[in-house]
Amino acid sequence: MADYKDIGQLNEEDVREALLSYIAQNCCYGKGTAREMRINEIKLTSGLHYVLESYCEKRLSSWHQDAYTGQLIDGPHNGHPPSVWQVPCTASNLFANESKYVEVPHTCTVMPCHLCHASGYNPCHQCMGRGWRRCSSCRGSGRGMHSTNSSGSSHCISCHGHGMKKCHTCQGEGMILCVVCQGYKQVRNYIRLKIDYTNHVSEYVIERTEMPDHLIKNVEGQVILQQQFAAVSPLIGFLDGEMVEASIKMINDDKASHANEYILQQRQTLRAVPVSEVHCMWKGSAGQFWVYGNERKIHAPDYPDKCCCGCSVL
Ligand SMILES: [Zn+2]
Ligand SMILES: [Zn+2]
Ligand SMILES: [Zn+2]
Repeated sequence: MADYKDIGQLNEEDVREALLSYIAQNCCYGKGTAREMRINEIKLTSGLHYVLESYCEKRLSSWHQDAYTGQLIDGPHNGHPPSVWQVPCTASNLFANESKYVEVPHTCTVMPCHLCHASGYNPCHQCMGRGWRRCSSCRGSGRGMHSTNSSGSSHCISCHGHGMKKCHTCQGEGMILCVVCQGYKQVRNYIRLKIDYTNHVSEYVIERTEMPDHLIKNVEGQVILQQQFAAVSPLIGFLDGEMVEASIKMINDDKASHANEYILQQRQTLRAVPVSEVHCMWKGSAGQFWVYGNERKIHAPDYPDKCCCGCSVL
C-alpha cells in the first residue's frame, strides 16, 4: 500500500487562493475577509474512503409464452434441459447493472393460445366487447345544454344525441389482437430465465475533523489500494485499525445479505483524501474552514462575508 500521510500539503498562499476561488463561485460572497484574514494554522489530515463492490448474479426461472410465428423450436426432442446455472449467459460489462432474459434450451413446445382460445382475438376490455362506450359528456342520456336540433329539443354535441360513442381502443370492432399470440393463434411455451446482474456498493468513510464526512466521497484523492478478485480479503495489516475492522465487517455482511445470489467478482478501493483544517482570524474573531480533495474544495459554513443583500461585499 502506498504511503498517504503527507499528500496534499498546502501553504498559506494555496489556502487563500482556494478560498478566493470558492468565493468567486458564490456571487453574493464578499472577498474582503478572505484577503485580509490572518491564517494561524493549517492542519493537514487524510480522510479515508473505502468502497466495496460485489458484482452478483441472480437467476429466476418461470414459464413464459410468446407468439409462434413458424420459427425453429428447441424442444424436449433435442435432449434433457440443462439446470438453471448451466445455461450459458455472461454479463455485458463487469460492475454494470443489467437484466437479461434467456430461453432454457430443450424446454419449448408449441400449443394453441389459451388466452384467445386460438382465435387470435380477445374481447376489448374497454368496451366489454360491445364496440361502443357510453358518452361521458351526457352520461348516456343523449341530451345536451348548448345545441338544439330542428325539433327544438337540445342534444349532446359530443355523441350527436345517441348517448354512446365508438370505442377508440378497438375502433368499434369489439375485439382486439391477442396480446400473447399477437394474432398467430399458437404460442411457444418454454422456461425462461430472468438473469439480474447487480453491483452492490457499500462505503465507509473515516474523516476525523468536524467537516461532514460524506464530503470526501465525491472528490479526488490518492488511490492507495485497488483489488479485484472473485472474493477480496479484508485490509488486514493496514495502518488504520478502524478501517481494518470496517472492511472485515463489510465483507462479511456482504456475503450474508446476498445469500441468494452468486458473487461473480468483487472490487475494493481505498482512497486517501487530503483535508486541511485552517484556523484563522476573520472579522476580529477566530474562525475555521476546510480545504479538501485534490481539487481544493472549500467547506466554510461560518464564512462571515455571505450577505446576500450586498451590504458587506467589497
Ligand atoms: Zn353524449
Ligand atoms: Zn372496444
Ligand atoms: Zn392468443
